[in-house]
Amino acid sequence: MNAEHWSVTLHPPLLTTTSGDAIGLGVIYCIGRNYADHAREMNAPRPVEPIVFIKPPSAYVPDGGTVVAPAAGHLLHHEVEVVAVIGTALSHATPEAAAGAIMGYAVGIDVTLRDVQQRAKAEGLPWAVAKGFATSAPISRVVPASQIDRLDRIEFGLAVNGIERQRGKPAQMLWSVEELVAYLSKWFVLQPGDVVLTGTPQGVGPLEDGDRVHAWLGDAVTLDVQVHVPKA
Ligand code: ZN
Repeated sequence: MNAEHWSVTLHPPLLTTTSGDAIGLGVIYCIGRNYADHAREMNAPRPVEPIVFIKPPSAYVPDGGTVVAPAAGHLLHHEVEVVAVIGTALSHATPEAAAGAIMGYAVGIDVTLRDVQQRAKAEGLPWAVAKGFATSAPISRVVPASQIDRLDRIEFGLAVNGIERQRGKPAQMLWSVEELVAYLSKWFVLQPGDVVLTGTPQGVGPLEDGDRVHAWLGDAVTLDVQVHVPKA
């Protein structure tokens, strides 16, 4: 392995609001298969309860950063997702209480090593490597919840090299953001700065070396990252 080619720039675990305030990033929770159209494109059954996984802080990439594949020859996929940012500690909350604990929203990308994930699925093994590798979680600046009117109606999406690949609305989620946060709070104690990536709509697809990825949450905030796949 050539260490020069594989050097990854890690970013301090700090989110930034659209007004420039810093928020310490906590746990990165992610939800799998929360849109029926995406479950169908993966030939996967509709889940009976939320599918939860976690990425480490080293997965975080801020706006303008670079996603670096951990190894060449793997199938890197984009999944654009609405991100909820927790503002108040939460345990065993109702969806109503969960709604009040969300301080803001962002757009993020759950970057996935699809071939590694498919192998893990087939063998009944965890997704930690496929989903949680360094730089697998680009997240935009955070828009205060007070500035988001009717999140469920806001269109979000993703383009690669200027060509749109994904577009969705939170209204299409199997579980709403509030329901997901309430669900997580039954297993974990959510803390300020924790974030929840709430699942991806259909249109996931491959990313290659040099790709420029642009994601948006309505006209509230955007996220731009580039992709680097080191040569083997
Ligand atoms: Zn995802």
